[in-house]
Formats: sequence, C-alpha cells, structure tokens
Amino acid sequence: MKDELLNQIEDIGNNHLSTSVETPLRPDAFDKPDDVKIQNIQKHFMAIMDELGLDLKDDSLSGTPYRVAKMYVKELFYGLNPANKPKLSSFENKYGYGKMLVESNITIDSACEHHFLPITGFAHVAYIPNERVIGLSKINRLVDYYAHRPQVQERLCLQIMKDLQQALKTESVLVMIASKHLCVSSRGIKDKSSYTTTIEYGGAFNDIERRKEFFSCLNQEID
Ligand SMILES: [Zn+2]
Repeated sequence: MKDELLNQIEDIGNNHLSTSVETPLRPDAFDKPDDVKIQNIQKHFMAIMDELGLDLKDDSLSGTPYRVAKMYVKELFYGLNPANKPKLSSFENKYGYGKMLVESNITIDSACEHHFLPITGFAHVAYIPNERVIGLSKINRLVDYYAHRPQVQERLCLQIMKDLQQALKTESVLVMIASKHLCVSSRGIKDKSSYTTTIEYGGAFNDIERRKEFFSCLNQEID
C-alpha cells in the first residue's frame, strides 16, 4: 500500500473517527449461519497465527483459532446481529412517575472498531418518563447488546440513546459512558491512566438543572 494511504489508516484509528450513527454493515451480513462464520473465521485466524510463525501443532495453540472464532461470533460481537437485539417492550406509566430515573454503573464490555481491542467501563443512563416506562433490566440488556460490536464510543452512546427515545416515546433520555480503551493504553500513546467520557442527551436534559440532578444521583454512595 502507498505510504499516504497507510498514514490515513493510522490517522483514522488514532483519532477514532466514525462515519455514521449506524454500524456500517453489508446488506448480506447475516446471510450465513453462525456455524459457517465460525468455520471461516477459524481458517482465517489460523492463517494469521501461522503467518506470525506460531506452531499450530502445539497442543496449547491448536484450539486457539476455533476459540477465537467462536468468541467473536457468539460473545464479543453477538450484538452485530439484529436477531439478538433485546425486545424493548415499554409499559403504560400507570403510577404517573414523572421525575428522573437513573440506572448507573452498567458494565461496558466492548471493542474498538479500529484496533479490535477492548473498551471497558461503565454506562449511566437516565430518562424522564412521559406516558411510557420500561423494565430496568432492559436498559442493561440494550447497553450490553450495542457494546458487543466493534464500536466507537460516541456511536455507542448515540445508538443506546436513540433506541431508548424511541421505546419510551420521549426525547428526555441521557446516556453517559466513561471507559478505558486498550488501544490507547497498550499501544500508540500507551497512556495507562486516561479514560474517555461521552455524554449525549435530549429533551429535558438540555436544561442544565436536569443534568446537575443527574450528576448528583451518580455521586450517591450505595453499599
Ligand atoms: Zn482503537
């Protein structure tokens, strides 16, 4: 590849630029069943290990291509497939709860789409209901689903927010994510202590007082 193109590839990765709110997927992304994908990835990963000079006949290494392939399809990137998306059924707000609900410290286990290295941290989600409310664990499941794709943190924040806004029929949703990116701590700049915070919101959260209320909820100690 030309030097200019290689520099551009490094630049996009280091700056973590994304092109759209939607994860860029091909229309035929899920035409093949999972077991065929696992078989194919297994072969490709075997070639990567072989190219690195590893002896695939070694007992410790021989099962690695299969383990990696299965982990990609069934675990780390299960959230690529819309068939795995949790159903976000909402309920009528019968009790008329009209103030803020905050679901905090939701685990983020993701991977950056530029280096395929882990992103780990927490999401904090808040909403102010209108006529609809949602089961609490649905928020955790939605975060888990979108996190389990090759991701860019800004996009992850937006994808979670937009789905909740749709399910809850209100713009008043806030999503904050604070996480560590292994591609920043283990390679490139190798900064071990920095973390990245993204915060997206709409509706009533445009009012700074609502955001202050949200932040004061986050600072509550619970044991
Ligand atoms: Zn990265």
